[in-house]
Amino acid sequence: MLTSLPRREVAKLWAKWYATKGTIEAYEWFRSKGELKLWPRFVWKDFVPPKFFFTTWQAVKGRLATWDRLGYLNIEQHCPLCLGDTESADHIFFKCQKTRDVWREIKGWLGMRRMMSTIQMAIKWMTKERHGAAVMRKARRLALMATVNLIWRARNAVVHDGTTFEPKHIVFEVKKITYEILYSLYPHDMVQLYLGA
Ligand SMILES: [Zn+2]
Repeated sequence: MLTSLPRREVAKLWAKWYATKGTIEAYEWFRSKGELKLWPRFVWKDFVPPKFFFTTWQAVKGRLATWDRLGYLNIEQHCPLCLGDTESADHIFFKCQKTRDVWREIKGWLGMRRMMSTIQMAIKWMTKERHGAAVMRKARRLALMATVNLIWRARNAVVHDGTTFEPKHIVFEVKKITYEILYSLYPHDMVQLYLGA
């Protein structure tokens, strides 16, 4: 099992994995080990595409190859987005000024008032979230996991391809994905009634 390997070995493995293989392949590997069963069913819903769920799950498990975990490679550990603090999963997803802009928009759009400053808090919130119509609850779970996935992908593009991190692009993509999936589940006018047109 991967979890029984020393921490450095795990970090190295994941860094390699990300460089050579796709997320789906990694997801399949974990699925076959039965690890995904450990996630509460009310978080891991079938309407959430595996790639979105998977990044969130990796972040919670501390398995994303953030710089703080790869420090032994003697590389720059500052957050590649704000160039300020040391990069960790909690920093890049919730504390970084650049990604805060993304959350402000998404939370405003879906009426999410809960403070989320760690990935664990976000998941806890999702498991307890009961208020509102089913379409809104789905939209919130979906948007949360899509945002985590897209922030991570955009962060990798900054690191590997030298692109610029654009909060507006992420917000646009998250909304597009959320609408697309909800439209496949509910009548269009019902989705628009709750989420806006
Ligand atoms: Zn940052």
